[in-house]
Amino acid sequence: MKTAKIAEIFETFQGEGIYLGERQVFVRFFGCATGCVFCDTPLSDYREYDALELKDKIAKYQDYHSLCLTGGEPLAQADFIKEFLDGFADLGVKVYLETNGILTDALAKLIDRVDYIAMDFKLPSSTKRGAFWKEHEEFLKIALSKEVFVKIVVARQTTDEDISKSIEIIQRNDAGIPVVLQPNWFEADAGLIEKMEFLRERFKTSGILNVKILPQAHKLVGIK
Ligand code: SF4
Repeated sequence: MKTAKIAEIFETFQGEGIYLGERQVFVRFFGCATGCVFCDTPLSDYREYDALELKDKIAKYQDYHSLCLTGGEPLAQADFIKEFLDGFADLGVKVYLETNGILTDALAKLIDRVDYIAMDFKLPSSTKRGAFWKEHEEFLKIALSKEVFVKIVVARQTTDEDISKSIEIIQRNDAGIPVVLQPNWFEADAGLIEKMEFLRERFKTSGILNVKILPQAHKLVGIK
């Protein structure tokens, strides 16, 4: 039986994106190779679980919107997740995947087992890492068979060029996809929000109308 490295398991409300406020059970997978400069989940410890142990662990939770697979990067452990999610649909548990939107082959392995996808576009001017435009577009094409929205972290250094590339990918695939612009928590101030208002208008004038500016609400109220 496969095992996975899990950093934590807990229940709280979703603090980001278009499902903000929904009660979820979070399974935080350990590890991510992307190394975004604004990463707010540097993980230092984990426990190994097999699929049965993890199912037992979350069985105590009741009456929640969905099971949130987060990280780190959950898709880095896709083979385990595919095994773990076997039978979940029969239990009526919805599965919500939070992902950096890069590991296309991993998503393809388990797309039929997830219901919602919160997909990041990692802008190189925001992350200070490499570009993933090709990966994001291929990933989005697969994710579109489910309920997907795109989340973009905006920093002071985010460039117009990166926003233009994001707009082009969304236009080529489905201009109706919800888009969430999220301020970099470490830089959020009135100046950044003003910049984001300008960027939101760029999406709207490009025909992408369902675009919101949403900060991380869980941090505003000081919970996980
Ligand atoms: S992709 Fe997510 S978990 Fe990975 S480094 Fe970036 S912010 Fe952190």
